[in-house]
Amino acid sequence: MIDDRRLLQDFLRLAGIMAPSGKESPVAKALLPELESLGLNVVVDDSTDRTGSDHGNIIATLPPTDGESPWRAFMAHMDTVPLPHPTKPIVKEGSVFSDGTTVLGADDRAGIAIIMEALRTLIEKDLPHPGIEIIFTVSEENGLFGSKALDVKGLRSSMAFVLDSSMPPGSIIATAPFATALTWNVLGLAAHAGVAPEKGINAIQAASRGISSMKLGRIDEETTANVGAIRGGHATNVVCDRVEIKAEARSLREDKLKAQLNHMRSTMKKAVTDYGATLEEKIDDKYPGFTLEKDTPVVQEAVRALRESAVIPKITSTGGGSDANVLNHSGLPSVNLGIGYQRAHSNEEFIAISNLEAMARVTLNLMTL
Ligand SMILES: [Zn+2]
Repeated sequence: MIDDRRLLQDFLRLAGIMAPSGKESPVAKALLPELESLGLNVVVDDSTDRTGSDHGNIIATLPPTDGESPWRAFMAHMDTVPLPHPTKPIVKEGSVFSDGTTVLGADDRAGIAIIMEALRTLIEKDLPHPGIEIIFTVSEENGLFGSKALDVKGLRSSMAFVLDSSMPPGSIIATAPFATALTWNVLGLAAHAGVAPEKGINAIQAASRGISSMKLGRIDEETTANVGAIRGGHATNVVCDRVEIKAEARSLREDKLKAQLNHMRSTMKKAVTDYGATLEEKIDDKYPGFTLEKDTPVVQEAVRALRESAVIPKITSTGGGSDANVLNHSGLPSVNLGIGYQRAHSNEEFIAISNLEAMARVTLNLMTL
Protein backbone atom coordinates (compact mmCIF):
# COMPACT_ATOMS: atom_id res chain seq x y z
CA MET A 1 0.00 0.00 0.00
CA ILE A 2 2.93 2.32 0.71
CA ASP A 3 4.02 4.34 -2.33
CA ASP A 4 7.73 3.49 -2.34
CA ARG A 5 8.57 6.05 -5.04
CA ARG A 6 6.84 8.87 -3.23
CA LEU A 7 8.51 7.85 0.05
CA LEU A 8 11.98 8.04 -1.51
CA GLN A 9 11.27 11.35 -3.25
CA ASP A 10 10.01 12.87 -0.02
CA PHE A 11 13.04 11.61 1.93
CA LEU A 12 15.40 13.13 -0.68
CA ARG A 13 13.52 16.44 -0.43
CA LEU A 14 13.62 16.47 3.39
CA ALA A 15 17.30 15.44 3.54
CA GLY A 16 18.15 18.41 1.30
CA ILE A 17 16.70 20.96 3.72
CA MET A 18 19.36 22.51 5.92
CA ALA A 19 18.01 22.67 9.48
CA PRO A 20 20.51 21.86 12.23
CA SER A 21 19.60 22.04 15.95
CA GLY A 22 18.10 25.38 16.87
CA LYS A 23 17.36 26.31 13.25
CA GLU A 24 14.52 23.95 12.43
CA SER A 25 12.24 26.54 10.76
CA PRO A 26 13.01 25.53 7.15
CA VAL A 27 12.08 21.88 7.69
CA ALA A 28 9.07 22.78 9.85
CA LYS A 29 7.81 25.06 7.07
CA ALA A 30 8.09 22.17 4.62
CA LEU A 31 6.03 19.89 6.87
CA LEU A 32 3.27 22.13 8.23
CA PRO A 33 1.28 22.70 4.98
CA GLU A 34 1.19 19.00 4.17
CA LEU A 35 0.07 18.00 7.68
CA GLU A 36 -2.74 20.54 7.35
CA SER A 37 -3.74 19.46 3.86
CA LEU A 38 -3.93 15.85 5.08
CA GLY A 39 -6.60 17.06 7.50
CA LEU A 40 -4.68 16.99 10.78
CA ASN A 41 -5.16 19.60 13.46
CA VAL A 42 -1.71 21.17 13.68
CA VAL A 43 -0.29 23.02 16.68
CA VAL A 44 3.18 24.50 17.13
CA ASP A 45 3.99 24.69 20.84
CA ASP A 46 5.49 27.70 22.58
CA SER A 47 8.72 25.98 23.62
CA THR A 48 11.18 28.30 21.82
CA ASP A 49 12.14 30.24 24.96
CA ARG A 50 13.05 26.95 26.68
CA THR A 51 14.76 25.26 23.72
CA GLY A 52 16.52 28.26 22.19
CA SER A 53 15.26 27.06 18.81
CA ASP A 54 13.78 29.27 16.11
CA HIS A 55 10.69 27.04 15.95
CA GLY A 56 8.43 25.13 18.34
CA ASN A 57 7.71 21.41 18.40
CA ILE A 58 4.99 20.36 15.94
CA ILE A 59 2.05 18.40 17.34
CA ALA A 60 -0.47 17.25 14.72
CA THR A 61 -3.54 15.23 15.68
CA LEU A 62 -6.07 13.04 13.92
CA PRO A 63 -9.02 11.76 15.97
CA PRO A 64 -9.87 8.02 15.89
CA THR A 65 -12.15 6.96 13.02
CA ASP A 66 -14.51 5.17 15.43
CA GLY A 67 -14.49 8.13 17.81
CA GLU A 68 -13.36 6.07 20.80
CA SER A 69 -10.17 4.08 20.16
CA PRO A 70 -7.16 5.11 22.26
CA TRP A 71 -4.46 7.38 20.87
CA ARG A 72 -0.94 6.58 19.71
CA ALA A 73 1.94 8.99 19.22
CA PHE A 74 4.56 8.86 16.46
CA MET A 75 7.65 10.90 16.94
CA ALA A 76 10.77 11.98 15.07
CA HIS A 77 13.11 14.96 15.41
CA MET A 78 13.45 17.72 12.84
CA ASP A 79 17.02 18.82 13.54
CA THR A 80 20.31 17.37 12.36
CA VAL A 81 23.83 17.80 13.71
CA PRO A 82 25.62 20.92 12.38
CA LEU A 83 26.57 20.94 8.70
CA PRO A 84 28.45 23.46 6.53
CA HIS A 85 25.93 23.66 3.65
CA PRO A 86 22.78 21.87 2.51
CA THR A 87 23.03 18.12 1.94
CA LYS A 88 22.99 16.81 -1.61
CA PRO A 89 21.49 13.35 -1.25
CA ILE A 90 22.68 10.77 -3.79
CA VAL A 91 21.01 7.44 -4.59
CA LYS A 92 23.54 4.71 -5.17
CA GLU A 93 23.21 0.91 -5.15
CA GLY A 94 19.97 0.81 -3.24
CA SER A 95 21.00 3.32 -0.58
CA VAL A 96 20.99 7.08 -0.10
CA PHE A 97 24.27 8.85 0.72
CA SER A 98 25.35 12.49 0.95
CA ASP A 99 27.94 13.77 -1.54
CA GLY A 100 30.58 13.21 1.17
CA THR A 101 30.85 16.86 2.27
CA THR A 102 28.01 16.82 4.82
CA VAL A 103 26.02 14.39 6.92
CA LEU A 104 23.08 12.81 5.10
CA GLY A 105 20.72 13.68 7.94
CA ALA A 106 18.80 10.40 7.70
CA ASP A 107 19.07 10.88 11.47
CA ASP A 108 16.26 11.81 11.64
CA ARG A 109 14.72 12.96 8.36
CA ALA A 110 14.27 9.26 7.56
CA GLY A 111 12.02 8.98 10.63
CA ILE A 112 10.00 11.97 9.44
CA ALA A 113 9.71 10.66 5.86
CA ILE A 114 8.56 7.26 7.17
CA ILE A 115 5.87 8.81 9.38
CA MET A 116 4.67 11.16 6.61
CA GLU A 117 4.36 8.38 4.03
CA ALA A 118 2.47 6.12 6.45
CA LEU A 119 0.14 9.03 7.21
CA ARG A 120 -0.45 9.85 3.52
CA THR A 121 -1.30 6.22 2.80
CA LEU A 122 -3.58 5.97 5.84
CA ILE A 123 -5.62 8.96 4.70
CA GLU A 124 -5.54 8.21 0.97
CA LYS A 125 -6.82 4.67 1.51
CA ASP A 126 -9.30 5.81 4.14
CA LEU A 127 -8.13 3.14 6.62
CA PRO A 128 -9.69 2.85 10.11
CA HIS A 129 -7.26 4.17 12.67
CA PRO A 130 -6.85 4.98 16.38
CA GLY A 131 -6.33 8.56 17.50
CA ILE A 132 -2.98 9.67 16.09
CA GLU A 133 -0.59 12.26 17.42
CA ILE A 134 2.37 13.16 15.22
CA ILE A 135 5.14 14.91 17.12
CA PHE A 136 8.11 16.44 15.34
CA THR A 137 10.55 17.78 17.90
CA VAL A 138 13.31 20.38 17.71
CA SER A 139 16.83 20.33 19.17
CA GLU A 140 17.16 16.61 19.86
CA GLU A 141 20.79 16.33 18.80
CA ASN A 142 22.13 19.00 21.16
CA GLY A 143 20.46 17.64 24.30
CA LEU A 144 16.85 16.43 23.77
CA PHE A 145 15.71 20.00 24.45
CA GLY A 146 12.58 19.80 22.28
CA SER A 147 11.13 16.75 23.99
CA LYS A 148 12.18 18.07 27.41
CA ALA A 149 10.15 21.24 26.70
CA LEU A 150 7.17 19.30 25.32
CA ASP A 151 3.95 19.18 27.34
CA VAL A 152 3.89 15.36 27.51
CA LYS A 153 1.07 15.36 30.08
CA GLY A 154 -1.05 17.31 27.59
CA LEU A 155 -0.81 14.52 24.98
CA ARG A 156 -3.72 12.11 24.55
CA SER A 157 -1.67 9.04 23.60
CA SER A 158 -1.20 6.05 25.86
CA MET A 159 1.89 4.86 23.98
CA ALA A 160 4.48 6.37 21.66
CA PHE A 161 6.70 5.12 18.87
CA VAL A 162 9.89 7.06 18.22
CA LEU A 163 11.39 6.49 14.77
CA ASP A 164 14.99 7.38 15.49
CA SER A 165 17.40 4.52 16.01
CA SER A 166 20.39 3.53 13.92
CA MET A 167 19.71 -0.12 14.70
CA PRO A 168 18.30 -2.25 11.86
CA PRO A 169 14.53 -2.49 11.25
CA GLY A 170 13.04 -4.93 13.73
CA SER A 171 14.93 -3.45 16.68
CA ILE A 172 12.67 -2.33 19.51
CA ILE A 173 14.66 -0.33 22.02
CA ALA A 174 13.00 -0.98 25.35
CA THR A 175 15.99 -0.13 27.55
CA ALA A 176 18.16 2.97 27.45
CA PRO A 177 20.63 4.41 29.95
CA PHE A 178 20.59 7.29 32.40
CA ALA A 179 23.36 9.71 31.47
CA THR A 180 25.08 12.53 33.33
CA ALA A 181 27.81 14.89 32.14
CA LEU A 182 30.46 16.38 34.43
CA THR A 183 32.56 19.48 33.84
CA TRP A 184 35.48 20.17 36.16
CA ASN A 185 37.64 23.24 36.36
CA VAL A 186 40.83 22.57 38.30
CA LEU A 187 42.20 25.88 39.55
CA GLY A 188 45.88 25.99 40.47
CA LEU A 189 48.20 28.94 40.75
CA ALA A 190 50.34 30.44 37.98
CA ALA A 191 54.06 31.07 38.58
CA HIS A 192 57.24 31.31 36.54
CA ALA A 193 58.23 27.71 35.92
CA GLY A 194 61.96 28.49 35.91
CA VAL A 195 62.26 31.24 38.50
CA ALA A 196 59.70 30.33 41.18
CA PRO A 197 57.95 27.02 40.48
CA GLU A 198 57.43 26.46 44.22
CA LYS A 199 55.06 29.43 44.25
CA GLY A 200 52.78 27.75 41.70
CA ILE A 201 50.21 24.98 41.87
CA ASN A 202 50.15 22.92 38.69
CA ALA A 203 46.55 22.30 37.62
CA ILE A 204 47.64 19.86 34.90
CA GLN A 205 49.38 17.64 37.42
CA ALA A 206 46.47 17.76 39.86
CA ALA A 207 43.97 16.98 37.10
CA SER A 208 46.01 14.12 35.70
CA ARG A 209 46.36 12.54 39.15
CA GLY A 210 42.59 12.70 39.49
CA ILE A 211 41.92 11.22 36.05
CA SER A 212 44.53 8.47 36.31
CA SER A 213 43.09 7.35 39.67
CA MET A 214 39.58 6.99 38.21
CA LYS A 215 37.81 3.83 37.05
CA LEU A 216 36.77 4.64 33.46
CA GLY A 217 35.62 2.81 30.34
CA ARG A 218 33.34 -0.17 30.85
CA ILE A 219 32.54 -0.33 34.55
CA ASP A 220 30.13 -3.28 34.33
CA GLU A 221 27.72 -4.60 31.73
CA GLU A 222 25.25 -1.82 32.48
CA THR A 223 27.60 1.09 33.18
CA THR A 224 30.21 3.10 31.25
CA ALA A 225 32.30 6.19 32.04
CA ASN A 226 34.56 8.43 29.99
CA VAL A 227 36.77 11.50 30.22
CA GLY A 228 36.30 12.94 26.75
CA ALA A 229 38.02 16.33 26.68
CA ILE A 230 40.75 18.16 28.54
CA ARG A 231 41.98 21.67 27.92
CA GLY A 232 44.43 23.93 29.71
CA GLY A 233 47.81 25.61 29.90
CA HIS A 234 49.61 28.20 27.79
CA ALA A 235 53.37 27.77 27.74
CA THR A 236 56.15 25.57 29.12
CA ASN A 237 57.54 28.37 31.28
CA VAL A 238 54.29 28.94 33.17
CA VAL A 239 52.97 26.68 35.94
CA CYS A 240 49.49 25.89 34.63
CA ASP A 241 46.74 27.51 36.69
CA ARG A 242 43.63 26.15 35.03
CA VAL A 243 42.44 22.92 33.39
CA GLU A 244 38.96 22.15 32.12
CA ILE A 245 37.87 18.50 31.94
CA LYS A 246 34.69 17.10 30.42
CA ALA A 247 33.50 13.65 31.45
CA GLU A 248 30.36 11.54 31.48
CA ALA A 249 28.89 8.39 32.95
CA ARG A 250 25.97 6.26 31.76
CA SER A 251 24.15 3.32 33.24
CA LEU A 252 20.99 1.37 32.64
CA ARG A 253 20.48 1.61 36.41
CA GLU A 254 20.14 4.89 38.22
CA ASP A 255 21.78 3.60 41.44
CA LYS A 256 24.85 2.41 39.51
CA LEU A 257 25.11 5.73 37.72
CA LYS A 258 25.03 7.55 41.05
CA ALA A 259 27.72 5.27 42.47
CA GLN A 260 29.98 5.82 39.45
CA LEU A 261 29.47 9.59 39.58
CA ASN A 262 30.26 9.63 43.30
CA HIS A 263 33.45 7.68 42.63
CA MET A 264 34.56 10.07 39.85
CA ARG A 265 33.72 13.19 41.83
CA SER A 266 35.42 12.11 45.06
CA THR A 267 38.51 10.87 43.20
CA MET A 268 38.92 14.21 41.43
CA LYS A 269 38.20 16.14 44.61
CA LYS A 270 40.85 14.22 46.57
CA ALA A 271 43.55 14.63 43.92
CA VAL A 272 42.90 18.34 43.54
CA THR A 273 42.83 18.93 47.30
CA ASP A 274 46.07 16.95 47.77
CA TYR A 275 47.78 19.36 45.38
CA GLY A 276 46.36 22.42 47.13
CA ALA A 277 44.34 23.34 44.06
CA THR A 278 40.61 24.06 44.04
CA LEU A 279 37.83 22.37 42.12
CA GLU A 280 34.79 23.80 40.37
CA GLU A 281 32.25 21.21 39.33
CA LYS A 282 29.19 21.29 37.10
CA ILE A 283 26.82 18.32 36.96
CA ASP A 284 24.40 18.06 34.05
CA ASP A 285 21.78 15.29 34.03
CA LYS A 286 21.64 14.76 30.27
CA TYR A 287 18.75 12.32 30.16
CA PRO A 288 16.90 9.80 32.30
CA GLY A 289 16.99 6.11 31.41
CA PHE A 290 14.14 3.66 31.03
CA THR A 291 13.42 -0.05 31.04
CA LEU A 292 10.16 -1.40 29.64
CA GLU A 293 9.22 -5.02 30.37
CA LYS A 294 8.45 -7.33 27.43
CA ASP A 295 4.75 -7.43 28.24
CA THR A 296 4.32 -3.64 28.22
CA PRO A 297 1.59 -2.82 25.66
CA VAL A 298 3.84 -0.50 23.62
CA VAL A 299 6.48 -3.25 23.30
CA GLN A 300 3.83 -5.85 22.43
CA GLU A 301 2.31 -3.59 19.77
CA ALA A 302 5.70 -3.01 18.17
CA VAL A 303 6.34 -6.79 18.13
CA ARG A 304 2.94 -7.42 16.52
CA ALA A 305 3.30 -4.72 13.85
CA LEU A 306 6.81 -5.85 12.90
CA ARG A 307 5.73 -9.49 12.60
CA GLU A 308 2.70 -8.59 10.49
CA SER A 309 5.00 -6.59 8.22
CA ALA A 310 7.38 -9.57 7.84
CA VAL A 311 10.18 -7.92 9.85
CA ILE A 312 11.67 -10.04 12.65
CA PRO A 313 11.26 -8.20 15.97
CA LYS A 314 14.14 -7.97 18.42
CA ILE A 315 13.68 -6.36 21.82
CA THR A 316 16.97 -4.72 22.67
CA SER A 317 18.81 -1.97 24.56
CA THR A 318 21.04 0.92 23.55
CA GLY A 319 23.89 2.88 25.08
CA GLY A 320 22.51 6.17 23.77
CA GLY A 321 19.62 8.50 24.54
CA SER A 322 16.70 9.63 22.39
CA ASP A 323 13.40 11.49 22.75
CA ALA A 324 11.99 8.15 24.01
CA ASN A 325 13.99 8.61 27.24
CA VAL A 326 12.20 11.87 27.93
CA LEU A 327 8.72 10.54 27.06
CA ASN A 328 9.16 7.51 29.32
CA HIS A 329 10.41 9.70 32.13
CA SER A 330 7.31 11.88 31.71
CA GLY A 331 5.07 8.84 32.05
CA LEU A 332 4.32 8.04 28.40
CA PRO A 333 5.50 4.47 27.62
CA SER A 334 7.62 4.76 24.49
CA VAL A 335 9.93 2.61 22.41
CA ASN A 336 12.52 3.78 19.92
CA LEU A 337 12.38 1.75 16.72
CA GLY A 338 15.38 0.87 14.54
CA ILE A 339 15.18 2.47 11.11
CA GLY A 340 18.69 1.49 10.10
CA TYR A 341 20.51 4.67 9.18
CA GLN A 342 24.23 4.00 9.48
CA ARG A 343 27.30 6.06 10.42
CA ALA A 344 25.10 8.90 11.63
CA HIS A 345 26.80 12.21 12.50
CA SER A 346 29.50 11.54 9.88
CA ASN A 347 29.82 12.47 6.20
CA GLU A 348 29.65 8.75 5.42
CA GLU A 349 26.11 8.46 6.78
CA PHE A 350 23.72 6.43 4.62
CA ILE A 351 20.45 4.52 4.70
CA ALA A 352 19.22 1.58 2.62
CA ILE A 353 16.05 2.45 0.70
CA SER A 354 14.66 -0.97 1.68
CA ASN A 355 14.87 0.14 5.34
CA LEU A 356 12.76 3.23 4.62
CA GLU A 357 10.19 1.05 2.85
CA ALA A 358 10.08 -1.63 5.54
CA MET A 359 9.63 0.86 8.36
CA ALA A 360 6.96 2.82 6.48
CA ARG A 361 4.98 -0.44 6.26
CA VAL A 362 5.51 -1.13 9.97
CA THR A 363 4.47 2.42 10.86
CA LEU A 364 1.34 2.19 8.71
CA ASN A 365 0.49 -1.05 10.52
CA LEU A 366 0.90 0.71 13.88
CA MET A 367 -1.34 3.53 12.66
CA THR A 368 -4.23 1.28 11.59
CA LEU A 369 -6.85 -0.52 13.65
ZN1 LIG B 1 18.38 11.13 15.97
